[in-house]
Amino acid sequence: MNLTERDLKIIWHPYTQMKTASPPVAIVRGEGALLFDENGKKYIDGVSSWWVNIHGHSHPYIAQKVAEQLTKLEHVIFAGFTHPTAVELAERLLAILPDNQQKVFYSDNGSTAIEVAIKMCLQYWNNQGQTRTKMLAFKNAYHGDTFGAMAVSGRSAFTAAFDSLLFEVEFIDLPNAENIVSLKSQISSLKSQLACFIFEPLVQGSGGMIMYEAQYLNELISHCRNEGVLTIDDEVFTGFGRTGKPFAANHFNEQPDIMCFSKGLTGGTMALGLTTCTQQIFDVFLSDDKLKTLFHGHSFTANPVACSAALASLDLFLDPATAENIERIKNAHAQFAERVKHHPKIKTVRLTGTIIAMEWETGDNTSYFNSLRDRLYHYFLNAGIILRPLGNIIYILPPYCITDADLNYIYSKIEQALGEI
Ligand SMILES: *Cc1c(COP(=O)(O)O)cnc(C)c1O
Repeated sequence: MNLTERDLKIIWHPYTQMKTASPPVAIVRGEGALLFDENGKKYIDGVSSWWVNIHGHSHPYIAQKVAEQLTKLEHVIFAGFTHPTAVELAERLLAILPDNQQKVFYSDNGSTAIEVAIKMCLQYWNNQGQTRTKMLAFKNAYHGDTFGAMAVSGRSAFTAAFDSLLFEVEFIDLPNAENIVSLKSQISSLKSQLACFIFEPLVQGSGGMIMYEAQYLNELISHCRNEGVLTIDDEVFTGFGRTGKPFAANHFNEQPDIMCFSKGLTGGTMALGLTTCTQQIFDVFLSDDKLKTLFHGHSFTANPVACSAALASLDLFLDPATAENIERIKNAHAQFAERVKHHPKIKTVRLTGTIIAMEWETGDNTSYFNSLRDRLYHYFLNAGIILRPLGNIIYILPPYCITDADLNYIYSKIEQALGEI
């Protein structure tokens, strides 16, 4: 039996209808933007392995730092104890985040980083004797798959089986020139009940790479601050260069109260989550009353090996060569967008930083379950390219180290697909 056959006997995969899905591709090795399967076939990782990989696979520098850490300290309990990599990572990250971010809370992944942020906000009010339990989020949002993170995500086919159990969230439209005034008044009318406003900055990833302007987000954050509503900037996807700047928050002036990170944080090497907050939020939990403690933690909180991967990834991220690569991809995407935007099968092309998304004309409504999705997915897989269309929306978000040749190959296959599918 090969690996795929052994897998099929016993493994239940994420986001996969196990009855109808095609067998998983067994990947045995990765290098740069490339992955190799058990038969030696090569694939270009056009989606950075679910958006986590930023410096390429099996990066030797990250591997070396992780190996060194493993022989020093693999893990230690993080309540009552600390260790050098967690402290250094927190220091170095705070130094490059908006300057109101003062405290770092570690967890395990993007969803847990969101859970922590939500709990911080709810208990922030609770600790002050106020009942504010409603949350504000964007329609179509995605913040993760655990229950709290799912609750602040848009109601969809993904949440349908759980909808009646999800807490109350007010969903608003993405802001634009036309609706910004009415969105603000909506916030004002709800403010005494609102614990927080959570958003994906500039790009709604899972929702279909939907993009909106920083200027209006800035106005909403500013309005929330004036109205006393806490803001959570979910940078799980956008953090570490995806939007063309180190963080999406660098595109706006207003500083959020809380920020969440994961995905690119360790360069895509391993799971680690991080929630940062202001001194003001932290201080509301300081008390002689034990009940005001933030009672949250995971067995592997601030795992030293994960922190060492994050530190190594940060070294690579701050290398000027990375910023040059981001610029290079941004420019290549923009040129490709010019080439395809008038194609009759392309409804729209959207660009932000290293992300390009193209909506295909289907004659039907845009949907995750559009059948075109499977045809496109297999078309590119056969061509040795990993793209995972969100319904009829094809997007490319490569590791920053992808070569021009590989990037151009993806573009040319998309143009070919436009002719053939
Ligand atoms: C992926 C994602 C999450 C969830 O992160 P996981 O590590 O998959 O739990 C949260 N927010 C955004 C914006 C994401 O893209």
